[in-house]
Amino acid sequence: MWDHQPSAAEVITAGNMATSPEQSDYREVDPRRFVDLLAESPMAYAAMVESITGFGIYLIDTRGNILTWNQGAERMTGLPRARVIRQPYSTLFEPAGRAADLPAQILGYAKYHGHYSDEHLRRRGSSEAFRALATLDIIRDPRGRHSGFVEVIRDVTADREREAALYAQATTDVLTGLPNRAHFTEQANLEIERSRRYFEPLSVALLDVDHFKAVNDTHGHQIGDLALQHVAEIMRSNARRIDILGRLGGEEFALLLPRANTQPAVELCERMRVALYQSRVDTPVGQLQIAASVGVASMNRDSTTLDSLLERADKALYKAKRQGRNRVEAWML
Ligand code: GH3
Ligand code: MG
Ligand code: MG
Repeated sequence: MWDHQPSAAEVITAGNMATSPEQSDYREVDPRRFVDLLAESPMAYAAMVESITGFGIYLIDTRGNILTWNQGAERMTGLPRARVIRQPYSTLFEPAGRAADLPAQILGYAKYHGHYSDEHLRRRGSSEAFRALATLDIIRDPRGRHSGFVEVIRDVTADREREAALYAQATTDVLTGLPNRAHFTEQANLEIERSRRYFEPLSVALLDVDHFKAVNDTHGHQIGDLALQHVAEIMRSNARRIDILGRLGGEEFALLLPRANTQPAVELCERMRVALYQSRVDTPVGQLQIAASVGVASMNRDSTTLDSLLERADKALYKAKRQGRNRVEAWML
């Protein structure tokens, strides 16, 4: 009875869930163990669960009403015992989850599979939401009949925020706020793969500030940094929303233009170049004029990888430098 295998219909119902809970090495407990535990030390078990503050632990009956509420649950949700006991499980969810019928889906999933585990938003106190890692297990009586659920939740909001901050740190160039080389490469590779699959054009541009060493030598590194931030700002405001920008290093920037072959790519880069040349960098020592050279390469049958596109864009950039700088050149055979 407790080796319940879900029927196809049950699996399909569970498969309709918006989330996809992991189900790794889950084993149902033999309900006969509960009889032993209760006989041995029922108070010790009750006290143990009640005293846990780091996890919310509570029982839910077969109709989906909350039966118990430990200290951890009260702390985490800010919902006092009196407000949840005998209330439906959906009381614990924020409005969006309730509207999506998430509480009923979770209970249904756990009932069919014996176990549910996933992360989603829960309600804290009055209205605020928090990110919860929730694990729901089915409880059976000694005869194997479904007698309710036990849910364990943990607040992972701070963990996820920390992860997001670390991710932003690892993928962003501190000076300009643009994606760094590694992140640009990752995003560009995805976009190139997508464009290849749909036979869409794509171009890559490399932008290098002209005589940048002279800016540093004349005004100092800090003014040089302001100039680099200015370049990033001009690039951002002239790129399309679908373009991918990156600072590859030093005073060299990259731009990936999906759905653009050479002509529109060159036109956009030309607008960017003119915008940079006509603008001025505001610095404590006055306004500064800078210029940049740009090399463009477009995807075609014999250039389908980021490495090859960057190599060709670099050759075009070199040509732009040789021909007098402050200009855009495209790679040609
Ligand atoms: P070209 O027109 O041929 O590109 O000449 P350039 O002077 O721009 O080229 P070069 O490669 O000789 O000089 C690049 C300079 O960029 C040298 C380096 O000091 C400076 N640089 C690299 N990274 C940074 C940075 O983060 N901040 C500042 N201020 N300068 C940087
Ligand atoms: Mg340069
Ligand atoms: Mg350079």
